[in-house]
Amino acid sequence: MEVLQDEYLGMGSKVQEFENKLEDFFSREAVCVVNGTAALHLALEACQFKPDSEVLVPSLTYVASFQSITAAGLKPISCDIETENFLLDIKDAEKRITSKTVAIMPVHYSGGVGNLDELYEFANSNNLRVIEDAAHAFGTEYKNKKIGSFGDIVCFSFDGIKNITSGEGGCIVSSDNKILDYVRDARLLGVVKDTDKRFSKSRSWEFDVNFQGWRYHMSNLMAAIGIEQLNKADSFFRKRRKIAQTYDSIFSDHERIIPLKRDYKNVVPHIYVVRIKDLDDRNTIKSKLSEKGIEVGFHYQPNHFLSLYKDDTIALPITENVYKELLTLPMHVDLSDNDISHIASSLKKLL
Ligand SMILES: *Cc1c(COP(=O)(O)O)cnc(C)c1O
Repeated sequence: MEVLQDEYLGMGSKVQEFENKLEDFFSREAVCVVNGTAALHLALEACQFKPDSEVLVPSLTYVASFQSITAAGLKPISCDIETENFLLDIKDAEKRITSKTVAIMPVHYSGGVGNLDELYEFANSNNLRVIEDAAHAFGTEYKNKKIGSFGDIVCFSFDGIKNITSGEGGCIVSSDNKILDYVRDARLLGVVKDTDKRFSKSRSWEFDVNFQGWRYHMSNLMAAIGIEQLNKADSFFRKRRKIAQTYDSIFSDHERIIPLKRDYKNVVPHIYVVRIKDLDDRNTIKSKLSEKGIEVGFHYQPNHFLSLYKDDTIALPITENVYKELLTLPMHVDLSDNDISHIASSLKKLL
């Protein structure tokens, strides 16, 4: 209401306030953009890699990871995942390094992050930049440090279903000021230092532009929602952990339903994914559950199967084995214990 009454809806002081609050949260600077895909796209552009350079990325991710790479004029190289946590398999990635490889984009699937020390060692020894797709990992910690509070470049999404939302939205966190300054200009069509002007309710009328930019800034309307969501983040994190643990305990003795293993001390679960052994027709399960008012999802179709990214020379045995058996059950902070037992018992009965 404050933003509406102020009648300054676009990028201004609320975005600055949200960025300041995010800076407190991460203990380092964050730059807000219009969505998580834009965050990844601008992070990659800010690195100024040569065109057609290669970026290692797990195939089992939202198409946004892949699209952000091609949007930046780069080539996504599909990698396989580890069986237990569905995170990028570093050994597989290592086999795919060429003289053109410049970066690695780990995807923190479902809020888990795996062994980040190992990942950064691998990146450092191969001279790769790391762009973390942390869209699922807002709130997750690694060795008592928040995801985003360390690491090369870390990108978040505040889309409507993410751990916190600003309607749509996203941010880039880094300690590299060259990257952050690039993104501050690039989100406003490359207009030099326009961010500073907008934060003081002004704008640039005479300006310079020296690289390709985009209309990727966040608005005050979005930031106002983001600020209120961030204030409630701790209670959201607790609720998500509780829901996932409730599901886990219901499924613990089931011989076909295998929940994703995670350490709830550190992980804030983003989606609740189960692997169902020998599942051969998940569409039937999906439509039968839908009749009971239960919406399930598939995270994800492997990207190396999509026409744009198809490469018949690539074999990713674990991804190709696992994806057909994955089912994502409802998980959001308004879910009640009754909802959870209705969902779990309906799934068990169907199987
Ligand atoms: C949501 C998501 C994104 C993109 O974020 P948007 O805000 O939807 O653009 C990128 N990667 C993953 C893994 C996501 O889940």
